[in-house]
Amino acid sequence: MSYFQDLSPCSYFGRWEESLLAVGWLDSEHAFTKGAVGEDFFAGLIRLCMQPWQPAVFAGRHPCPFCRFTGGHGGVTYQGMTVSIGAENVFVPGLERVFVAPTMIAHYIDAHEYVPPQVFQEAVLRCPEMRSMAYLKAVKALGLKRERAIDAGPESP
Ligand SMILES: [Zn+2]
Repeated sequence: MSYFQDLSPCSYFGRWEESLLAVGWLDSEHAFTKGAVGEDFFAGLIRLCMQPWQPAVFAGRHPCPFCRFTGGHGGVTYQGMTVSIGAENVFVPGLERVFVAPTMIAHYIDAHEYVPPQVFQEAVLRCPEMRSMAYLKAVKALGLKRERAIDAGPESP
């Protein structure tokens, strides 16, 4: 997986670089902030990561760089909600940009004590329900739009 410093522009997706700020794109070569996070934030993050809306489908699974032998398992389950990790990304609208994090971020926080930036935590707590009209409007207003070519359903207004 690519490494991006937290809150730096995220070029992983090419065309949306100007709209995206990276959060949680960790690797084993770079130190990251460790500590405690609030349970409200973690539960909110899990809720958003369950079936994250993505502007395009990206292939490829990535193992966790910090799990020494197994590469991490396939998912994180919390309060009855399960997030699959390793392949998907979650887009969280901020004030001026959209934060993008691999869903693996849930595993980094749970298993490896990662603490994401405060602005990201606040954005998660503020984020409308995933895939709701309010959510889609928010990401669209910040420049993200689903690619028509790979859109599985009709374009929403
Ligand atoms: Zn791990």
